[in-house]
Amino acid sequence: MKKLMIADCKLPIGRFGLVVLAGAAAISITVAAQPARTVVVRAARMLDPVAGRIVANPVVVISGDRIESVGGPVPPNATTIDLGDLTLVPGLVDAHTHNLLEPEDEVTPPVLTKSQAYRAIEGVSAVKKNLEAGFTTMRDLDSEGAGFADVALRDAINKGVVPGPRLLVATYALTITGGHMNLTGMNPDISLPDPATLTDSRDAMIAEIRREVKYGADWIKLYATGTLRHVNRETLEPLPQVSLDDVKVVVAEAARWRRDVAAHAYGGIGARNAVEGGVRSIEHGWILDDDTLRLMVQKGTFWCPTLSVFRPEAGLDKPDEFSRRVVESHKRTFQAAMKTGVKIVFGTDVGGFPHGTNNREFTYMVEYGMSPLEAIRASTTRAAELLRMEKQIGAIAPGHYADIIAVQGDPLQNIEAIKQVRFVMKGGEVYVRPGGAGRLSTSQHD
Ligand SMILES: [Zn+2]
Repeated sequence: MKKLMIADCKLPIGRFGLVVLAGAAAISITVAAQPARTVVVRAARMLDPVAGRIVANPVVVISGDRIESVGGPVPPNATTIDLGDLTLVPGLVDAHTHNLLEPEDEVTPPVLTKSQAYRAIEGVSAVKKNLEAGFTTMRDLDSEGAGFADVALRDAINKGVVPGPRLLVATYALTITGGHMNLTGMNPDISLPDPATLTDSRDAMIAEIRREVKYGADWIKLYATGTLRHVNRETLEPLPQVSLDDVKVVVAEAARWRRDVAAHAYGGIGARNAVEGGVRSIEHGWILDDDTLRLMVQKGTFWCPTLSVFRPEAGLDKPDEFSRRVVESHKRTFQAAMKTGVKIVFGTDVGGFPHGTNNREFTYMVEYGMSPLEAIRASTTRAAELLRMEKQIGAIAPGHYADIIAVQGDPLQNIEAIKQVRFVMKGGEVYVRPGGAGRLSTSQHD
């Protein structure tokens, strides 16, 4: 028998299948402890991103949802999953996603055409595709007007209602009137919902952060610069949306609730204010200047470039002179950031392009000069550091969640191998297996 102390109504009780709503006072319940199932995963190779090498013939012992040992003794009565000639890789992390956004929403604002319930159903389909592509953890950087559907999606996945990656969600983003994620070109005489929350004063920013945390936000998303339509076509200067003092207020209020801040920032003074004000990550940053990159190294700020969504293949815009200049600037910034030593994290903006194709980002990172190993680290060890989950995800190591994928080929030799996903396990549960997609409990191997 095992005794659990519950003092927080947010705590899921995991495999005991109980949800307890408790007030401020701690209560205790007693449940029967079940022995954790032991599973052994074998394959021809394993990529260890921590050591930066391929390990031959790995033996990974999994107990329940965690990795017990790597290369240790195999317990008797363990269920074995032998993956033959595949390469084991830690479950991938996409640190910039929009599971409640679909590519067509870039053309027609979904707040006008789709109900939040419909968008939540689309989200169920999106998270499944992303999980099956090998992404076992995602930081979902705002619902783009789908309310708290991201919280619902996260919680439904955690309870096993629907399959999907482990989600960290941002709910609404903070913006300003006239800035990014406002509906534009609308009749001012009628009131319409905006895809983000308009916070035009520091008091409004503080109140919005409290509301988001109250309803389940894990991260705070701040629009520190405008969007592409605000960019000066001659100089490429983005629209700064926040002052240094604004950012300091947002970061301090988020920190009160032990939340970190991710800032959408292309470059210029808005990006600089975001970095100096203490946000944990800069998103997009396709025109970050050298001074800002140096400041990011000093302050330990992470960068999610989201190369994919700006590439013409994403299909958002017809490639014209302006979008070509944006992509060129992105590449230049990426190479400068690598040289300066900025902590680059894998993030794609998937949702702006089809779900389940996030791994295209690896191709672009390598095309721009990153080694395959560093690109995979950006999606494993480095991403885990950004999310403050280094002890839980990003490596196939004892104590970590059993988040393991297997790919055909050696991704260190050819990065395209990372797209050949044949097996996906998240928290000890198998969702994709060789020869057949779809969820499969490891118990079926018993
Ligand atoms: Zn985004």
